[in-house]
Amino acid sequence: MGKGRRKANDDSDVLAGEVGTIRRTAPIRIALGYPAPYKVAASSLGYQVVYRIWNEAPAVVCERFFLDSTGRGKKAPVTRESGFSIQSAHAIAFSVASEMDIIGVVALLESCGLSPLSSKRGDGVAPVIIGGPLTILDPRLVSPLADVVVVGEGEEALPVIRDALADAPDKRAFLTSLDGAAPGLWIPALDDEPPLAAHTPVDLLGAFAATWSKHAELKDLFLIEATRGCQRACSFCVMSRRTDRASPFRAVPVERVLQHIPANAPGVGLVGAAVTDHPDIAQMVDLIVRRGHRVSLSSIRADRLTEQLTRSLVAGGLKSLTLAADGSSESLRRSVNKGITKDHLFKAVTIAAAHGIRRIKLYSMVGLPGEQDEDMEELAGLLKALSAHLSVSIAVQAFVPKPGTPLANVPMQDLPAIRHRLQMLRRLLAGKVRMIPTSPRWSWLDWKIAHMGERAAYAAMEAHSHGGAFAAWKRAIANQGEKP
Ligand code: SF4
Repeated sequence: MGKGRRKANDDSDVLAGEVGTIRRTAPIRIALGYPAPYKVAASSLGYQVVYRIWNEAPAVVCERFFLDSTGRGKKAPVTRESGFSIQSAHAIAFSVASEMDIIGVVALLESCGLSPLSSKRGDGVAPVIIGGPLTILDPRLVSPLADVVVVGEGEEALPVIRDALADAPDKRAFLTSLDGAAPGLWIPALDDEPPLAAHTPVDLLGAFAATWSKHAELKDLFLIEATRGCQRACSFCVMSRRTDRASPFRAVPVERVLQHIPANAPGVGLVGAAVTDHPDIAQMVDLIVRRGHRVSLSSIRADRLTEQLTRSLVAGGLKSLTLAADGSSESLRRSVNKGITKDHLFKAVTIAAAHGIRRIKLYSMVGLPGEQDEDMEELAGLLKALSAHLSVSIAVQAFVPKPGTPLANVPMQDLPAIRHRLQMLRRLLAGKVRMIPTSPRWSWLDWKIAHMGERAAYAAMEAHSHGGAFAAWKRAIANQGEKP
C-alpha cells in the first residue's frame, strides 16, 4: 500500500519488549487497532490513552492489533495480548493520525473479513469506532467507515463509550445511547452533520501512557502530556488559534505530570504541540532529570530554548536538537506568522553548542505562497552559517494547505515547481548540509485527500483494492471527481 506499507518488526512478538502491557479478562472485549505497525502505535500517546482508559472498567478488556509489515494485513488478525479474533470483539476501534491512515483502517477491516463501509456491515457485526487527530482536520474523512466517530479530544467520550458498550443489549441500542452523550460523539447514521471537535477540560488533562517499549519508535520513553493545543497563530497549522477548529492552549501543572511518571521508566517523553510554551517547562524537565530519568521533548521552539532548559535537557540525555523553521526565508516565516527569526535560530544553536550538543536538525517547507528562488538561497546561506557551530541537517517537505486553516483555499504549489526548489536547495547545499526531503507527490496526495470529505474513504477503498501505490491512489481520487 505504497507509503502506508511501513516496515516494522511487529511480525514477531513485539509485546515481549514492552513494559506495562495490560493482561486481564472481562466479559466485554474491545479490539483496538492502529493503522500502522506496532512501533508507530506504541509511540502515539493518544492511542495509549485509549488503551489505558478502556481497561479501567472491570466489565471491559481492551486489546490491541496493528497493521503488519506487509501493510495489507493478509491474515485474519488477532489481538496481541491474548489472541482473541477481531471478529469476536464487541467493538472494534481505530486511532487515525494522518490522511494515509485511512487506507490502513480499510486494510485492517478487510483483513478481518469485514466490509470497510459501515452501511454494509449488518446489525450483527461489532460497531466500529474511529477517533484521533485526523478527526480534527475533518471527521467526514472517515465517517463512511465508522459507526461512531470521536471528533476531537476524547477524554470525556471514551468512558461513555466503554460504559455504553457494557450496558447496551445490542448495536442499535449502543449507537442510540451514544447520540449526543458526550462532547464530540458523532453517529453518522443518525446525524448528517458532525459535532464540533471536543476540547477536554484542563482538570482531565495530563494524558499519560500505559506502556513503554524498546521496540517503539520513541524507544523506552514513557509518554506524558505537558501541554495541549497552541496559543500561536501560524497560518498553515491545524493547531493554530486562527483555525476554525482551534484547540486552546492548556498547560498541565508540574505536580500532576510528576505524579504519573513511574519510578522505573527509563525515559520520559513530554508531549505537546507547543510543549516549550509551558510556563514551567525548565523546572519540569529539571525535576524529572533529578529523579533519574532521561527526558525528551516532542517539540522545541528556537525562541524558547534557554540556558537553563538546555542544561537540564543535556543532563537528561539530549544529544541533538530538532527545531522547526517552517519557511525558507525571514519574510516567508513572517508571512505565515511562524514567529521564528534567523536570530532565534542562531541564538538557539549557540546555546546548544555551548552545552555540548553537536547536531541540529531543522524542519522547513517549500512551496509556501509567494516563495521565490531567492528564498532557497537565503535558506542555504542560513544552514551553512549554522553549520559553522555544529553538524546541521534539514528535513524539507512541501507545504500542504490543510482544511480549516487560513491558507486552506490556497492551491498547493505544483509538483514541478516544488521539485525545482528541492533540486535548487540540494545544489546550493552542495554536500555541506545533509538534506532529507519528503516525497512531494505523497504530500500532494495528502493535500487532495484532506479536502475530499467522505469521498476520501471511498478513494482509500479503491486504492487499497489496487495495491495502494501512488498510481492506484491517483486513479482512485480521479474516480471520486478530483482533478489528478
Ligand atoms: S506550527 Fe507549532 S507553534 Fe505554530 S500554531 Fe502549530 S503547533 Fe503552534
